[in-house]
Amino acid sequence: MPKPGKQPIIFSDLDGTLLDHNDYSIDAVEPILKKLALLSVDVIPTTSKTFAELQFLMPQLGLTTPFIVENGAAVFIPKPKTATTLMNQPEGTVSIQDYWCKSFTQPRSHWQPYIEQAKRQFEGCFSLMTEMSATEVAELTGLTEEEAQRALQRDYSEPVSWHGSVEQEQGFIEFMQQCGATVLKGGRFLHIGGCAQKGIAMEWLMNVYQKDFLQQTGQQKDWFSIALGDSGNDISMLELADIAVRIRSEHHDFPILSREEGVIDSDSYGPTGWAECIQRILSLE
Ligand SMILES: [Mg+2]
Repeated sequence: MPKPGKQPIIFSDLDGTLLDHNDYSIDAVEPILKKLALLSVDVIPTTSKTFAELQFLMPQLGLTTPFIVENGAAVFIPKPKTATTLMNQPEGTVSIQDYWCKSFTQPRSHWQPYIEQAKRQFEGCFSLMTEMSATEVAELTGLTEEEAQRALQRDYSEPVSWHGSVEQEQGFIEFMQQCGATVLKGGRFLHIGGCAQKGIAMEWLMNVYQKDFLQQTGQQKDWFSIALGDSGNDISMLELADIAVRIRSEHHDFPILSREEGVIDSDSYGPTGWAECIQRILSLE
């Protein structure tokens, strides 16, 4: 549990965690998000989703916080006119629209020649999300076509829908790893990208919070990270956070962690489990 005087920051996966896996509803978490905003506890969406999707989702979630996209490939920090917490442009960031952006990995185009090779080797075993129409993506994910359009605007990673056998999938993962890619298993797709990890982006952003507070006030502040996720692509942040919350899924087991200390498993599924655990950890009424 957070110690008195420590300021919590919540890093949360979206699909199957903060958002319902099937209908992407936020009804279960909305009242908690409002309470957290009143308590100035930042909730940082940390997701496989894209910048385009997050730009649209953040106002719906009522959040003006930084966010982490494409499984840790980049962190976007709103510039101070829209943010309340971070005031200084962090080192190593570039300005993109109303955000400061820190990238951790190569652009998506870097992986395309390797994926073309894999297409020949694993013929018929997979399809690329970016080669699907918005209608196909919508059918596969339950997103609306408009939402699917935003999901297709990928900057860093290539989601792959697998149709082959488990053995072929393993062979494909090994092939992509030999090409230098990292392969993460999300709820619906295998994500091919650079060695970005949600945990690395989370640690970087925690440092930014620390430095920014020091620059603003001349004082140190103790921050406390809580990470919540339901899948393999959440493991890196669940391993590194002060408290790891594994959200129960109707579709797969909890992700396996090497740590045992500071791990909480939700009883309920998806966003209801999210609300249950955050209320318990932060002793919210
Ligand atoms: Mg998830």
